[in-house]
Amino acid sequence: MPLPAAKGKQVKITAVKTLVVNARMRNWVLVKVETDQPGLYGWGEATLEWKTKGVVGSVEDLAVLLIGQDPLRTEHLWQMMFRQYFWRGGIVAMTALSGIDQALWDIKGKEAGKPVCELLGGPVRDRLRLYDHLGGGLMEDIYQSEAPEVFGERIHVSLEKGFTAVKAMPIPVAELIETPATLKRAAKCVEAMRKAAGDSVDIMLDLHARTTSAAAIQFGRLLADYNLFWYEEPCWPEHVDALLEVSRALPFPIATGERLVGRWQFRELLEKRACAIIQPDVSHCGGISEARRIAAMAETYSIPVACHNPQGPVSTAASIHIGFAVPNYLIQEVVRADVPWRNDILTHPLDVACGYVDPPTLPGLGIEINEKAAAKYPFAPEVTMACFHRDGSVADW
Ligand SMILES: [Mg+2]
Repeated sequence: MPLPAAKGKQVKITAVKTLVVNARMRNWVLVKVETDQPGLYGWGEATLEWKTKGVVGSVEDLAVLLIGQDPLRTEHLWQMMFRQYFWRGGIVAMTALSGIDQALWDIKGKEAGKPVCELLGGPVRDRLRLYDHLGGGLMEDIYQSEAPEVFGERIHVSLEKGFTAVKAMPIPVAELIETPATLKRAAKCVEAMRKAAGDSVDIMLDLHARTTSAAAIQFGRLLADYNLFWYEEPCWPEHVDALLEVSRALPFPIATGERLVGRWQFRELLEKRACAIIQPDVSHCGGISEARRIAAMAETYSIPVACHNPQGPVSTAASIHIGFAVPNYLIQEVVRADVPWRNDILTHPLDVACGYVDPPTLPGLGIEINEKAAAKYPFAPEVTMACFHRDGSVADW
């Protein structure tokens, strides 16, 4: 059955395009929604490492639903993208939907002449706290973290830039149950960070779900004295009860949620109080529309939100708008040093190499892509990640 065309004088969507920009560790999938109004278009981001081509194809699938529709009917189009195709979207389709949803909010803001956070109710804070990433996730020897002193040195660079919170991955690809040597080395890394940073800086650890709940508890007990701000993704996202075991066993907040999509996947986590902080990703969870709903659900459980965001500049901008509009927002992840030309693909640089940002003031997401500059970095396959335990069985990266 043909889709009903938009009625009246409204704006109509004329094209939904993707622009893939290779940024070393990941391909940024930028989504551009164009309209029949001169100069009115929106940008979103649907970056999903190792699944770039799938996401680009999924955006093409969804575009069929959107061409000819009114882009200002943001929620109606969200419902169409989520429900009209019968099959529920997994991570690929929800990432495509998320990028398009961000672009629709960008259009809505530009059309109204207001920043997106104004349309979401206006800023609920005067400034938004950001955290820096110290790395540690890409080791040559996957069974060892980088040297403890390396983490201590890196933290100084973050502090010089004005950050008051940092995240690191000092816990290596773990065995199902770990050896004392591996456990103690991880503790040394955290000790080095705490010594270098002092007690006024917040430290987060990301486990990347490398651990079983038992191994996560083994590590966590040795880290108990370092007052972690949070302990991230200690278990697979599917294992809510395992997460609950870790939450109950350790004395610091557990954070998770970057791989969950849609409010329904967050429901069990919240109902069971299996974590203390949720981390939806605005480029995966269902866009700005869904992130604010997930945040509202979390608010009813007094659980703070800290959107996951290792992606490109559009995802960062979208996350910042949510951060200003959501009362139970805790802190925002940013990437500042993945590629030196990060800001070159923008017409207005997005300065996030600092501890806090002010409320956005430009219409829409406040992001404009320099497509000519972006075209210098075309798609390239991501580095293949394959990790194995010492006995040759598959491990989590
Ligand atoms: Mg993480």
